[in-house]
Amino acid sequence: MISEKLQKALNEQITAEMWSANLYLSMSFYFEKEGFEGFAHWMKKQSQEELDHAYKMASYLIERGGSALVDKIDVVPTGWGNPLEVFKHVYDHECHVSKLINDLLTLAQEEKDFATQSFLWDFVKEQIEEEATAQGIVSKLEKAGDAGLFCIDAELGKR
Ligand code: MG
Repeated sequence: MISEKLQKALNEQITAEMWSANLYLSMSFYFEKEGFEGFAHWMKKQSQEELDHAYKMASYLIERGGSALVDKIDVVPTGWGNPLEVFKHVYDHECHVSKLINDLLTLAQEEKDFATQSFLWDFVKEQIEEEATAQGIVSKLEKAGDAGLFCIDAELGKR
């Protein structure tokens, strides 16, 4: 059985993952309105992945005898200046999420909950990929300038 402390922390992470899903959905809508179909598609997939993280954490909590909660989700940002600004925001957000996961793992270590530590390592590894992917897109956008924007848009549309 999972401890109350870890159960509470994992439920807070579920809320954070759902907030991330909404953030990326908001970015997807922004791109759709701006005519970047590829970026919009990429963001929708990213949003779905965040929901999948929340579902995975909920199932894990239930498996361990805990309860998973759907809590209130705060509003997410809605306005950006250009695609580069959006992807810089994605990178910063993923670094923040990495910190949240690291804090959770630290708590699982303090609680001597080895099962939860093992469960969380997948998310630690996932964050390496998330940060690298966002940083990669930022670099491409910085090099491409306005003329190359639609090439990157087409590329991300293939996700
Ligand atoms: Mg996530």
